[in-house]
Amino acid sequence: MTVLDPVWTSLLYLTAAVFFILALRGLSSPRTARRGNLIGAFGALLAVVTVFFSARLENIPWIVGAIAVGTAVAAPVARRVKMTQMPQLVALFNGVGGGAAALVALLELSHTGDPWVRLAIVFTLLVGAVSFAGSGVTFAKLQELMTTRPLVFPGLPIVMAAVLLAAVGTGVAVVLTGSLPLAVLLMVLGLAAGALLVLPVGGADVPIVISLLNAFTGLAVAASGVVLGNVLLVVAGTLVGASGTILTRAMAAAMGRSVAGILFGAFKGGSTAGSTAMSERPVRSSSAEDVAVLLGYAQRVIIVPGYGLAVAQGQHTAAELALALEARGIEVDFAIHPVAGRMPGHMNVLLAEANVPYESLKEMGEINPEFRTADVALVVGANDVVNPAAKTSSGSPIYGMPILEVAEARQVIFLKRSMRPGFAGIENDLLYEPQTSLLFGDAKDSLAKVLGAVKAL
Ligand code: NDP
Repeated sequence: MTVLDPVWTSLLYLTAAVFFILALRGLSSPRTARRGNLIGAFGALLAVVTVFFSARLENIPWIVGAIAVGTAVAAPVARRVKMTQMPQLVALFNGVGGGAAALVALLELSHTGDPWVRLAIVFTLLVGAVSFAGSGVTFAKLQELMTTRPLVFPGLPIVMAAVLLAAVGTGVAVVLTGSLPLAVLLMVLGLAAGALLVLPVGGADVPIVISLLNAFTGLAVAASGVVLGNVLLVVAGTLVGASGTILTRAMAAAMGRSVAGILFGAFKGGSTAGSTAMSERPVRSSSAEDVAVLLGYAQRVIIVPGYGLAVAQGQHTAAELALALEARGIEVDFAIHPVAGRMPGHMNVLLAEANVPYESLKEMGEINPEFRTADVALVVGANDVVNPAAKTSSGSPIYGMPILEVAEARQVIFLKRSMRPGFAGIENDLLYEPQTSLLFGDAKDSLAKVLGAVKAL
């Protein structure tokens, strides 16, 4: 195979890097996210193809075989995954990226005597292994293969400190000696550190940790770019590292928590443990017809979508209900909390899929002052994001998280299946308030019944 001139290689890498940056720009708005994703994928394809032509590769059948196996496994999984399972899929893919960077670094150790390159190798090995093991544990938690609660044992901080100290010592030794067995030991220590870092994180904080580990993988990939002398890996890794860090901070801020609090909260016993106990207090339950009357004779209705709407796949019915109400001259908006659902932007994506116009999706800061002018707040499969405990109960795991102020509306209607709590596992006092009524059932079924009843008014 002919090998590309290095100048052409650099130009193609630069083009791929520009595609990655444009992809991130596209992903910053739901309107352009699909295009951004495609641009990013094209950049990655260009980068991979360039690698084949930029060097005289050995073992091409093995490389092509590995790509084929990876594609055969990942493509069907990505196609079939439910939207609500997206965070764990991201965790899985992210972990594999960190693991791959670590393995590449391990193999490169025997090819170099330069201490600076060895330093980059040590960094890649450690951070890549942390990301691989940490992502594996977050996947297991979100997939409920293990408990989602914080797992702490006595002496955990001491074990963690010992592992980190050993890792630093081993890392220094690898830089000085280039020893392969010590590098393998470093990787094992990284795996242990990754698992220990994530085990104490529980409940609603787990998806934030995915984003943090994503940033770690980015840094590991950037360092592997230094190891291999590949500028594109440095650029791509840095982009992932930076965007992962920004996303982590944004998600933590949306939940009113600090990143350190999330990672080390359980050490002090203050994480989102929650409970799943159900209350026996009486509530006011309504029929679909009652709800239709409340909605159909209102002037202003605000729909609050949450995780339950995504589970029920009720977005199309919710959009139809909004249209039916608007046809009656009622002003309808959707209130979007930044962490409603299970991943950032979850509700935007869901409602965009149902062709709800972007103008009807109002962010929390914009819609909160409007609840007091609303006749009805219709809460569809949301719970934590409207729970006043976040403001009033200082002991609550969600204390400090900004919420949608649905309690300000004249009437509040919850569509949910039972009295079970939301993701954070805590009771919601709003369910028992006099202005609240509940329509029990699957969100999509309930919405369809209410829609039918509104049309019959
Ligand atoms: P919650 O998890 O608080 O509540 C969802 C509600 O939906 C539950 O009360 C459940 O009650 C109900 N539900 C579930 N399935 C159905 C169904 N098929 N039909 C009707 N109702 C259903 O969701 P929110 O969106 O309010 O809050 C999101 C939570 O996820 C927050 O705690 C947030 O911190 C966390 N989180 C979100 C992230 C993000 O980026 N979006 C990231 C990390 C965490 P029932 O079982 O009775 O039906």
